[in-house]
Amino acid sequence: MRKMREELGMAILLITHDLAVVAEMAHRVIVMYAGQVMEEAKVEDLFEKPLHPYTVGLLRSIPRMEGDQGRLYVIDGMVPDLACLPQGCSFHPRCPEAGPRCRSERPLLQNVGQDRRVCCWLHTEKGVN
Ligand code: SF4
Repeated sequence: MRKMREELGMAILLITHDLAVVAEMAHRVIVMYAGQVMEEAKVEDLFEKPLHPYTVGLLRSIPRMEGDQGRLYVIDGMVPDLACLPQGCSFHPRCPEAGPRCRSERPLLQNVGQDRRVCCWLHTEKGVN
């Protein structure tokens, strides 16, 4: 795929749960949860400093080869029913950072710094409380 991309000057849209493939192939990453964009960033920025708690959880759950890692990290809870999303942030039932605002108001995707967007109250002036 990389060879074709270079030879033909094409863009490739990859949809995957495999973060190793993302790290290897992508320039830009859009992280989605329950059908919504949670974070968008250049691949190096996303892996170096994830901003959205869901992205943080995904990266923490990658199996590592080095050292004794103990049990693999798991994001608590279940993906919601898309026909019946929770009020507020759709990730709030599973989010370790959730505050009162997260349960009642849905955050919007906002620019955070340069060339980066995130959908989370943590990264707004309002905050989660
Ligand atoms: S808005 Fe609140 S619940 Fe949603 S990801 Fe951010 S901190 Fe977590």
